[in-house]
Amino acid sequence: MAAINPIREALTAGRFSYMVELVAGAKTTEEQLVETAAGFMQVPGVLAGSVTSFAGGSAGHDPIRIGAAMQARGLTPNIHLTCVGRDRLNIGNALAELQTLGIENVFAITGDFPKGSKETAETLYDLDSVQLVEFIKEFREQTGFPFYISVAVSPFKYTEPDCAYQYLKLEKKIAAGADYAITQLGYDSRKMRELRRYMDERGLRTPVFGNVYVLPLGAAKKFNKGEPPGCFASNELVAQIQAEVDASTDKGMAARLERAAKMVAIQRGLGFAGSYIGGDHNADRIRWIIERSEVLAPKWEELAEELEYAPKGGFYFFESPKSEPQKQTFWNRVADIIEPANTPPVLKGVITGTLRLIDKSPAAARALESVELAFKQPVFGCQACGNCVLGLMEYVCPMTCPKNMRNGPCGGTFNGQCEVIPEQKCIWVEVYNRAKAAHRVDELKTYIPQRDRSLKGTSSYINYFLDRDSRPEHPQPLIQITIATQAEEQLVKSK
Ligand code: SF4
Repeated sequence: MAAINPIREALTAGRFSYMVELVAGAKTTEEQLVETAAGFMQVPGVLAGSVTSFAGGSAGHDPIRIGAAMQARGLTPNIHLTCVGRDRLNIGNALAELQTLGIENVFAITGDFPKGSKETAETLYDLDSVQLVEFIKEFREQTGFPFYISVAVSPFKYTEPDCAYQYLKLEKKIAAGADYAITQLGYDSRKMRELRRYMDERGLRTPVFGNVYVLPLGAAKKFNKGEPPGCFASNELVAQIQAEVDASTDKGMAARLERAAKMVAIQRGLGFAGSYIGGDHNADRIRWIIERSEVLAPKWEELAEELEYAPKGGFYFFESPKSEPQKQTFWNRVADIIEPANTPPVLKGVITGTLRLIDKSPAAARALESVELAFKQPVFGCQACGNCVLGLMEYVCPMTCPKNMRNGPCGGTFNGQCEVIPEQKCIWVEVYNRAKAAHRVDELKTYIPQRDRSLKGTSSYINYFLDRDSRPEHPQPLIQITIATQAEEQLVKSK
C-alpha cells in the first residue's frame, strides 16, 4: 500500500496545517539542512518541509537530493521544481527521479531569473509554470504516480493589470491540474481576503496556504525595493520594523514572531488551508508562532484590521475603480483581420492550398518567412519562433518577455515593471490593457501550450495552415513515457 502523503491527507480532511520553507542555499551544508528539517517535523501540525530551488535567483543545493535525504529520515518533502535552466527532457527526468524516490509533493514554479546570468530566455526557459503544471499532470496520468502539485499565486499586486492577471493565471494553473496553491509573501490582510473572495465567487475550491514570512529589518528593506522578485513590504511596514528594532534589546525578534503568529491567526480565520512559514529555520520559534497563533485566533478579525501594510493608492480587485478600457489601436484592428484564426472558412481552403504549394519549395517558404518577419518584427517584436500565438496574446509577442512566458506574468512583476529588466514594462500589462479594450479579458484564461522549438525560423502562416505548430487546439505533446522509463533505467543502473 502506498505511504500516506500528509499534505494530501490534511488538505482532503480540511485540517488547518503548516508547511515550513527550507532554503537550500549553498552556504548551508546538506547535513545541516536535513537536521533543520528534522527539527521542523517535531513541531505539532507541521506536515512537510518545502525545499527551495534557485531561491531569489541564486543557485543552491539540488532540492531533490535534499528531499531524498529528508525522506530517508521519515520527513515529508515538498520539492520546488522550477523551469529555470530545464528543458522538457530535463523536467521529465526530474519527475522520473522523484517517482523513483517516491516523492509526491512538487511546487511547480517558473523560478526567478538567475542573478547576473548572461543567458537568455531561449536557453533558460523552455516552459512556463502553467505548462509545467500541465506537464506534471500528464506525467501523473501516464505513469499513475500520484504527484501532488502546488502552485504559486500572489495577491500582493497593487496595479490593476498585475493583480487581475495573477488571478487569471491562478485559474489557468488550477485548470491545468494544480491541487493547491501557496501565496507569495506579503503583509496585507485585505489582499489575503481579496484572494479568498475571488476564489469563493468563482467556486474555486482549491485549498490555499498563506505565506507567513518571519521578517527581519534587512529583508524588509530589500522587499520594499521588490527584491527578491515578487516579495513586498510597504514603507509603513519597514518603518514599523525599524521602530521595533530601535525599541528592543532583541533586534525586534519578539515583535516579528508576534507578527508572524498574527498572520497565521488571520489566515486561519479567513479560511486558508494552512500557513506556509518561511524566514526562520529555528524549530522552537516555529513552534512558538503556531502555539501563539492559537491563542490569538479568536480575535483574528481585529488583527486583520491592524495588519494592512500596503502602498498608498494600491489597487484592490473588489474595492478600487477599474480603469476605463482604452480604444483598440489601429494596428490591433488590422491584426484582428489578418489573424489566421479569423480566416473566413471560404478562404481557408484556398490559402491552405497555396501555402502547401509554397511549402514544397524551400526557397519560396524562406521568402514567405522573410516577408512575414519584415512586417511582424517591427510591429510586434516577433522573433520568428514559428508558433505564432499573437492572436491569443493581443498581438504582444511572448518572445519579448525575458522569460518567454506564454500564459501570463511571472510573480516578479513590480508595479507593472519587469522583474528581469526593471526599466521595462512587463509585457503582460499591455496584453491585459488591450484585452480589456477589445472586451476579451476572459479569453486570457486560454491555456497556451509550449512552442515546438524545431519550427524556429520558419513561416508561422505555413505552420498554422498546415497544422504543424503548437497552439491551444493543436498542442505539441509535452511528454513521452519513454523519457521516464529511460531515466528510471539509468537511475537503477547508476546505483
Ligand atoms: S515581462 Fe513580465 S512575465 Fe516576463 S519576465 Fe518580465 S515581469 Fe516576468
